[in-house]
Amino acid sequence: MDYISIADAMKQGKGIVALRGWCYRERKSAARAFVVVRDDTNIIQCVIEKASADPETWVAAEKICIESSLTVQGEIVPDARAPTGFELRVRRLEIIHLAERFPITKDQSTEFLLDVRHLWIRSRELTAVWKVKSQVLAAARDFFSQKKYYEVTPPIITGSSCEGGSTLFSIKYFEEKAFLSQSAQLYLEAMIYSLKRVYALTPSFRAEPSKTNRHLTEYWHLEGEEAFMNFEQLLQLEQELVSHICQWVATHCAQELKVLGRNPEELKKITLPFPCITYTEAIELLHKDGIEIPWGKDLRTIEEEALMKHYDKPLLVTRYPKEIKAFYMKDDPSDSRVVLCCDMLAPEGYGEIIGSSERETDVNILINKLKCQGEKIEHYQWYLDLRRYGSVQHSGFGLGIERVVRWICKLESIRDAIPFPRTIKRMTP
Ligand code: ATP
Ligand code: MG
Repeated sequence: MDYISIADAMKQGKGIVALRGWCYRERKSAARAFVVVRDDTNIIQCVIEKASADPETWVAAEKICIESSLTVQGEIVPDARAPTGFELRVRRLEIIHLAERFPITKDQSTEFLLDVRHLWIRSRELTAVWKVKSQVLAAARDFFSQKKYYEVTPPIITGSSCEGGSTLFSIKYFEEKAFLSQSAQLYLEAMIYSLKRVYALTPSFRAEPSKTNRHLTEYWHLEGEEAFMNFEQLLQLEQELVSHICQWVATHCAQELKVLGRNPEELKKITLPFPCITYTEAIELLHKDGIEIPWGKDLRTIEEEALMKHYDKPLLVTRYPKEIKAFYMKDDPSDSRVVLCCDMLAPEGYGEIIGSSERETDVNILINKLKCQGEKIEHYQWYLDLRRYGSVQHSGFGLGIERVVRWICKLESIRDAIPFPRTIKRMTP
């Protein structure tokens, strides 16, 4: 008999089916055994009656323990009392591998669960997260393909930084020092001269010194860059991307969202236009709320959280003071104190999900800004060349995949948005 998935068996809803998977839970009495089986698609309650089961099946049912792998065959019937609405009346159960005593039980500490992460990733909640994440990536790729962007493959090992030296990881590169990429942006900027619209999905590395719920040291970064794109078009594009991801996940992941406690209707409401304020307006709003923050200071988590109390959609905050933003951002022609940049903040206090800007196109302004930030011009010669040979207006953004997954899946910590999190204190398993 061919094995089918639990989801397909439930769709079929009747008749004899054969399944394979793992023992998710088990409960036994003298007369019958209940074995909840899980596979990648769902869980199903299987019942084995001692009186009617063949002897080997009963022996297997008595022996089986959590996380053992198994095959079962039997009749599937609707049953309102069963956890997922169906029950399998087992005719034959075979153990593929009898598991050792599974180390994960109820109420274990976060640290222990991270120690056994390679086993904990099988849990129902985390399995739901991986599925949502896979659909977030599918949605993003679908979006960029519709917009006629090319996916490109920038390097991870680099000789120069992008987001500031303090969070760079350095590595020994033969006799020299190299760095792990913090952003593909500078390389994407180079590639727009050949492909006009490009995007990349790469790991980015940040030696984040603080322990927060939204920083990993290795995360997946989705970055896009487009030639001839102005600031207004950039804002439009990033709203469309985030809305597309939310709509896509709401339609493709209903079952997973339910497991995670996220109502798909909340995601369906993430439609254009998103609210948009300037940094200066954000500071005024915070002052009205009685939060003291001088103009010129970067928004921290507490200020972002306070701001987001006013909004239930992602918020665009534009035009930050240039001193707190990167050298490649273009000055606002109508106010030279600020740059044409935008951070997108997720609702419900999940924090920044996108950083973006129109890029400076003038080689001399870039050289000046690099000097002011104490950077060595020699390291950036190749990048400055991009402004020497056919410089054009262009803009781009970077979205943190795990930040978006954390928000969509309502996760307490960003660690649960990636199977094997790397943080200040942890790089194994
Ligand atoms: P933050 O202020 O939250 O540290 P950032 O300003 O350093 O963010 P950018 O350099 O603009 O972030 O990076 C682009 C995007 O990458 C961010 O909007 C965020 O979604 C994501 N990101 C940045 N740092 C991290 C990190 N350490 N872990 C996970 N995602 C990150
Ligand atoms: Mg940062």
